[in-house]
Amino acid sequence: MEHLQVSEALRVILESVSTIGVESERLQESLGRVLAVDIRANRDLPPYDVSGMDGFAVSSMDLANGQATLEIIEDIKAGDMPTMTVQTGQCARIMTGAPMPQGADAVIRVEDTQEASANSVRISKTVKAGNDVRPQGENMRYGDVVLKAGTEITPGVIGVLATVKAAKFAVYRRPRVAILSTGNELEDMGDPVDPNKIPNSNSYALMAQVQALGIEPVLLGIARDDPAELEEYLRRGLECHVLLVSGGTSVGMHDYVRPTIEKLGVQMKFWRVAIRPGHPIAFGTTGKTVIFGLPGNPVSSMVCFEEFVMPALRSMMGNPRLYRRTVPARLAHPIKMRPGRTEFIRVQLSRDEDGYVASSTGTQSSGVMLSMAKADGLLVVPSDSSGLEAGEQVTVQLLDGTVFQSEIGFKE
Ligand code: AMP
Ligand code: MG
Repeated sequence: MEHLQVSEALRVILESVSTIGVESERLQESLGRVLAVDIRANRDLPPYDVSGMDGFAVSSMDLANGQATLEIIEDIKAGDMPTMTVQTGQCARIMTGAPMPQGADAVIRVEDTQEASANSVRISKTVKAGNDVRPQGENMRYGDVVLKAGTEITPGVIGVLATVKAAKFAVYRRPRVAILSTGNELEDMGDPVDPNKIPNSNSYALMAQVQALGIEPVLLGIARDDPAELEEYLRRGLECHVLLVSGGTSVGMHDYVRPTIEKLGVQMKFWRVAIRPGHPIAFGTTGKTVIFGLPGNPVSSMVCFEEFVMPALRSMMGNPRLYRRTVPARLAHPIKMRPGRTEFIRVQLSRDEDGYVASSTGTQSSGVMLSMAKADGLLVVPSDSSGLEAGEQVTVQLLDGTVFQSEIGFKE
């Protein structure tokens, strides 16, 4: 059976998804959303030349020979407008952010002056025009695009939006995401503990991965390995933009997901990707819905979400930065592996004077959830590698943090 490379699978997925319209959002509610419009400056900032320091507004010509005692004609505080023009031999006391008076072209910091009398100051230095003056429009100019559509709204972006008084603006809609677990062996959170069953962790780990993107998913619960029951659950899931199905996608006797979703009109685009852990991972589309068949193994399910579902969801939300940030690291110990698939190894990162050092979180069995819980990142081992030496340079995708990049950032 043919296996797609990770990047081929990603290409198929990203070609199949699109944004789902825009809505108006309030500034106060917009953190983490993505702008659907360009935002322009609504005025010049600063609105006129202002002082960059607490000090004295002077004419640079008065200090041409490095020495002057200047009469202080007024005090200009932030929020005041100057009322007088600075003439030869004069200056104005000025505070940071206050408008420069007529006749002055530079500011001398208080620290560089000596008081000469109650209303005069002695300055012993030359100064260039523009010194410690923040010119009009230095921050932004009226009409300039200050934020482009596609910008993710971070706290810094919120600051810019507030600066231009954007109280409401268009953002991309968030997809509705449904999560379904499948398997007769599963026991849900509310069920009593049965030693013969497996706790359903995937629904909740996936829920959290979706929530981390700012989307509240719809939890459909657990469908038994029964074609009729599965069909009923899948129908509900197909009402959402994205349906995540965990388990049941193998070719075992009781893996009914594949025939059932095909019966429901889903066109499957692939079933196999050369990735470890993460086998099998399936993807299909019907109407407005995209379906991911994720592996039942808890770690595989989370890794496949990271590598395939998250970029799809970010793209659907209009974000051009789809991929986790990658960083270079050195391997703390050797790793053996079978070539043939791109492998994602759960690692912890530490730092020494030469940069990051990656060490495995322990057993990498795809059933061991703790390996994911402890991980700072996923070390990417290219598919042609049969092992790595201690000290070797590797690429690690960071699992923590909110910073994403526009390139995949690793060699598969
Ligand atoms: P499957 O892909 O259905 O063959 O499942 C592979 C393995 O993952 C089996 O050992 C399942 O018990 C386990 N598994 C499947 N679904 C879940 C789930 N929702 N939570 C935890 N483990 C699961
Ligand atoms: Mg199963």
